[in-house]
Amino acid sequence: MAPSDRPVRVRIAPSPTGDPHVGTAYIALFNYVFAKARGGKFVLRIEDTDQTRARSDSEQMIFDALRWVGLPWDEGPDVGGPFGPYRQSERSAIYREHVDILLAKGEAYRCFCTSERLEKLRALQVAGDDGHRGYDRHCRELDSSARVGEPHVVRLKMPLAGPITFRDEFRGDITRDASEIDDQVLMKSDGLPTYHLANVVDDHLMEISHVVRAEEWISSTQKHVALYQAFGWEPPQFLHMPLLRNAGGSKISKRKNPVSIYYYRDAGILPEALRNFLGTMGWSFGGDREKFTLQEMIDVFTWDHISLGGPVFDMVKLTALNEKYLHELSHDELADRVIAWRLNKPYIARLMGLAQKRMKRLTDFIPLLDYCFAGDLDLAPVLADLKIDGVAPAVLAEAIRELVEKYEARTEWSHKVLEEESKAWATAHGWKPKQAYPLIRLGLTARKETPGLFDLMEVLGKEICRRRLREAARAIDATVPTPAPAPPAA
Ligand code: GLU
Repeated sequence: MAPSDRPVRVRIAPSPTGDPHVGTAYIALFNYVFAKARGGKFVLRIEDTDQTRARSDSEQMIFDALRWVGLPWDEGPDVGGPFGPYRQSERSAIYREHVDILLAKGEAYRCFCTSERLEKLRALQVAGDDGHRGYDRHCRELDSSARVGEPHVVRLKMPLAGPITFRDEFRGDITRDASEIDDQVLMKSDGLPTYHLANVVDDHLMEISHVVRAEEWISSTQKHVALYQAFGWEPPQFLHMPLLRNAGGSKISKRKNPVSIYYYRDAGILPEALRNFLGTMGWSFGGDREKFTLQEMIDVFTWDHISLGGPVFDMVKLTALNEKYLHELSHDELADRVIAWRLNKPYIARLMGLAQKRMKRLTDFIPLLDYCFAGDLDLAPVLADLKIDGVAPAVLAEAIRELVEKYEARTEWSHKVLEEESKAWATAHGWKPKQAYPLIRLGLTARKETPGLFDLMEVLGKEICRRRLREAARAIDATVPTPAPAPPAA
């Protein structure tokens, strides 16, 4: 069947390596809407073949975050489906079988090169600088039948030259010469597949009709097309969505914008507003209409309205849209939303541990912990205290960002971990806890006195803490006068 006549089956294939990314929700939205507009299926596949990077809690967070945004899947690891497991770590036998098919067809080969040899090769290539990079195909013509038991990887026998082309439905034909592409590894020495192999085999076996993903995957697509050719399979249609951008045009990054879906939930954004906002990223409803429901988007959806100029993820616009949705809720609905957000029993109960000893009456509770029910704080009144004596503001701001990265590098968000990291960070800068902790406290609460800092951080949560500390760094940066422009040359 020609690819365009196949029943629509689309997928998102996140790797569970960290917090659920707003880019995943963006790509999920377009896959979901397209599937629903065409009576198709929306599949969730977990690509966890890179066991060194996979995080056990991350998969559940992807499920929870996508459900919170309101984009449920028809088939997936937790809901099942007709295509076997939807988690790649449970599909190893399938990949091995497919590697054997390629080996038998002479489309792939075993490579016994050690990492030392490959490193040496790389060093020689860099030193020689004749522009040649990548694997030198040392094992490509080797008779490996007697060495199967030795450690090896399996590589694809890329065509040595000639164009490899795929059609991107937004951009037209994209071509690279095969000679520019390495004999890619399909199976690692531990017997696990690489992203390229698992992704192609699964898209084929799961009968994916359209691969809708972010444009950062364009450069992998020729490799995928070469694999489809090697198997003798018809590739799906490819549609690469423009990347979300920071205001300055760079790829969206956590240094500039929070990227975890959970941040938006914790910072009081309604899921329908986030969904709608993501729908305006690179796609237009028609006219200048920016507010539309998911169903309205599905009703009119075609790919014609995609524009490839990088859509800017602008928090001010998101908040303005959120405000509109919020104002439309009945009082009863709004009450439910606020309760689900921060006035729920589990959250309040956790705060009691911080508040109880400091309360004389119930009335003390809210004033004591008001910053636990807020998003960004107004730091202007405490800006003068946001300092460490003798440390230049620019240095301090950078140190705070570095601290945030240290917190981010740890998967656990607990009193113990936060204290460990904060202490190590302060010591590394030559600061005593009593100099450094008040600064963290002030950035997080805009108060000089609060309950125990790390207990508080644990309850406030990772998203809010990270955002407030980055905002504190930004506020400190803003106190540095920008140098006056040099006088024009006479
Ligand atoms: N596992 C890849 C990711 O993390 C999937 C890319 C694709 O959609 O092919 O995004």
